[in-house]
Amino acid sequence: MTKLTINKFAAKKIADGISVLDAHDFPVQTHIEGFADLYFEKQFLTSAYFSRQNKGIGWTIKTRDFVALLTDAKHKRYPYYQDSATTAFRVFNQDGDDFGGFTIDIYDEYALFNWYNAFVYSLRKEIISAFKQVFPEILGTYEKVRFESKLPISSHIYGQSAPDKFIVLENGTRYQVFLNDGLMTGIFLDQHDVRGALIDGLAAGKDMLNMFSYTAAFSVAAAIGGAKSTVSVDLAKRSRELSEAHFKANNIPLDAHKFHVMDVFDYFKYAARKNLRFDLIVLDPPSFARNKKMTFSVAKDYHQLIADALPILNKHGKIIASTNHARLSKADFLAEIKKGFGKQRFEIVQEFSLPADFTVNSVDSQSDYLKVFVLEMK
Ligand code: SAH
Repeated sequence: MTKLTINKFAAKKIADGISVLDAHDFPVQTHIEGFADLYFEKQFLTSAYFSRQNKGIGWTIKTRDFVALLTDAKHKRYPYYQDSATTAFRVFNQDGDDFGGFTIDIYDEYALFNWYNAFVYSLRKEIISAFKQVFPEILGTYEKVRFESKLPISSHIYGQSAPDKFIVLENGTRYQVFLNDGLMTGIFLDQHDVRGALIDGLAAGKDMLNMFSYTAAFSVAAAIGGAKSTVSVDLAKRSRELSEAHFKANNIPLDAHKFHVMDVFDYFKYAARKNLRFDLIVLDPPSFARNKKMTFSVAKDYHQLIADALPILNKHGKIIASTNHARLSKADFLAEIKKGFGKQRFEIVQEFSLPADFTVNSVDSQSDYLKVFVLEMK
């Protein structure tokens, strides 16, 4: 087994329970790929594995007994298994379930693996065999490769093929999903609690604008929750068809629900010109985006979305401000929000983070990446 020495700063970080490893944790640059033991002042600290990924260069690990890891993870999701109104949720979430680098989501009778680095991908036979043992009820599985490689980004792994498109349930609402078409699946499972709040009253009687709507899952939840109308805006052409499918799946007539395939900044101008007003505006952009005219980064430009939303928001209206940017702290996101409000007074009336199935490493704020605030204009 390779032995590596870490620096004092990293020894403290590991003792505190942080599991992701960074290049600067080591006094000498390390290029190894695979398992290693970490030492500080000649004392064994922990086992780890190394492989570059979007986040860090490796992970500390407690065990590679995947049957035990997956069994524990499945037990933690007991409430989700008991709830027949929800059939899509995460059952394994990286360091939140004691092994960084991969996640597993359940979509009704199928499962989806996400691999975030090449080394964990090299362990996939072992992981999948453990999965078969712990989840024998799953009919078929798919995978997404989320690190740079020549592998196809999406493939079938074993078992029955899922229909190209099928329905999952979340809090009794029906969503159309697909497991083998690019990296996305038709629903972002991490927004479970926000959709729950929209169903439970946040949207009741409101005219809602859903910016960066993707498949309009927030709009469907709002419609189920009694919204008077919704407008969903996304520049991806497919978004309209996929959004309509969610509405159809729930037998919601489309009269009060509109979809615009366009840039949100163009829509803001259009809405202001037409004197449109909304009671609730959702702003959930990707962390980084680029179009022909400009680049957008949540860390630097989120304030602009708030500033553009205010003129079309009714008095006492609410904004749902959301980001999944892991490297943007909650405090920095709030600073962007405040900058956007400028002199306009507002109050934070509700706050959400990852739902319970997205287990996090509670000492590592980066693993709890979702930040959602409901802001009321005063
Ligand atoms: N809120 C969605 C997820 C949004 S994902 C949900 O809960 O399901 C981000 C979306 O932003 C993508 O669908 C992408 O097409 C869209 N997008 C990116 N830049 C955009 C822009 N400038 N205007 C409109 N949509 C944009």
